[in-house]
Amino acid sequence: MKRIVCLLPALLLLAGCAAPPRGAIYQVSTIDALLAGVYDGEVRFADVMAHGDFGIGTFDALGGEMVAVDGQFFDVRHDGRVQPVDPARRTPFAAVSFFAAGRSLPALTATNLAQLTGLLEAAVAATNRPCAVRIDGTFRYVRTRSIPPQQPPYPPLTEVARAQAVFEFRDVRGTLVGFRCPAWMKGVNVPGYHLHFLTADRTGGGHVLDVSGGNLAVRLDECDTLTVVLPGLQAFGAVNLSQDRTRELERVEQ
Ligand code: ZN
Repeated sequence: MKRIVCLLPALLLLAGCAAPPRGAIYQVSTIDALLAGVYDGEVRFADVMAHGDFGIGTFDALGGEMVAVDGQFFDVRHDGRVQPVDPARRTPFAAVSFFAAGRSLPALTATNLAQLTGLLEAAVAATNRPCAVRIDGTFRYVRTRSIPPQQPPYPPLTEVARAQAVFEFRDVRGTLVGFRCPAWMKGVNVPGYHLHFLTADRTGGGHVLDVSGGNLAVRLDECDTLTVVLPGLQAFGAVNLSQDRTRELERVEQ
């Protein structure tokens, strides 16, 4: 495993700004490697849990959607069941941070995911930093998905996404968990918003496809450190990471 560490605080110090302590994202692999079919779990969740109490990801062989909130890690399985994550399991893609709300926004109302992310974007548009996003409330509607575990040789994510299980929740209390990544992170993570959902009673959730609700409490935590743990050379070296996968990403995220 190789590790890339990008430290922005040093730049801020050079600029003469006294930077307040901010969040640090710890990420396993890259979104383009996942799109290309690098699904073998690389890093144990015990290591992921040591680097964050909040975040999203998936599991070995792409089976299930991971959501971590308040230090508790959950697997939203493709059969809809939610179970705690065994620290011995491994992940091929995850991003976590220790969430500390740097900013709270006035309560938001949105009728769909695009409107929600538009409102969020208006609040964070000036930043080129990634941002952890936490939204709590009673949601009028949430549509999520989860993916069944895959068998090698792994098909690309665009094919896998066709087999996704879709879940709908109405008038449900819960939390949206995820990250807003700036455009420069294309290929590394998902530019824009990538959100997972967990119900307050921890019985449902998944990767968010659509959402609506009113009086939603939004907290943002801008991050200034990004650590990316790259997969083992064999899997990572075997896939083509030179092509633009923007359209593939749009297809699997929606
Ligand atoms: Zn997801």
